[in-house]
Amino acid sequence: MHEKKDKFDKKGAGGMDEIAKTLFAPIYPVIAQDVIDRFGITEGTCIDIGSGPASLAIAIAARSSLSVIALDSSGDMHEAASRNIAKAGLSGRIHLLQGDVHDIPLADDTADLIVSRGSMFFWDDIHTAFREIYRVLKPGGKTCIGGGFGNKELRDAISAEMIRRNPDWKEFNRKNISPENVERFRTMLNEIGVPSFEILYGDKGFWIVISKTAGGAL
Ligand code: SAM
Repeated sequence: MHEKKDKFDKKGAGGMDEIAKTLFAPIYPVIAQDVIDRFGITEGTCIDIGSGPASLAIAIAARSSLSVIALDSSGDMHEAASRNIAKAGLSGRIHLLQGDVHDIPLADDTADLIVSRGSMFFWDDIHTAFREIYRVLKPGGKTCIGGGFGNKELRDAISAEMIRRNPDWKEFNRKNISPENVERFRTMLNEIGVPSFEILYGDKGFWIVISKTAGGAL
């Protein structure tokens, strides 16, 4: 628990901010455009869970009229996010919210769209987290939650560089996107009774798409 907490303290947040602005920078516009093209949701409220330095939140806001809530448990990540959002001129459209995915400080049926990249692999209790996500999703809303690097070319180039910088990253990433991990999430979604979901798995990464139906409390 401590190890995980430290990972996103000031030093960890600085490292994530740096990599999000450099090596990972090209992935966020690709992921944001994919999500918008896939669902056609361009208005209302989007939540980016585990938003970190807010690169995905910024890319979504820049390509839509969505009002984006950048939810993260780390105050240090939010400090970086706040600077990045101001620099992008999007302070009026992206709202920082400090909180934990296991107890999301938002009302039921808040979001038209929920996105999250690279965060769910760090959550302690995925059953509780996804119950909370389903609760705050509006009927008719969609999620795109998982991890990935946008497309095959970006994934291959970024993976090679990440492994060069830190050989342990190879195993960390392999475990996250392994078929066993996909099955772990699929089993969890069935166990909590999500009626309609799809798991996308391929060159773009591993993404959980939930479609909430009307009257769909779990
Ligand atoms: N989504 C960003 C991106 O792709 O650039 C940041 C990814 S970073 C690897 C993971 C983020 O998830 C961190 O900002 C961390 O603070 C956040 N996080 C981890 N566990 C969380 C939790 N239980 N609730 C909310 N945020 C969490």
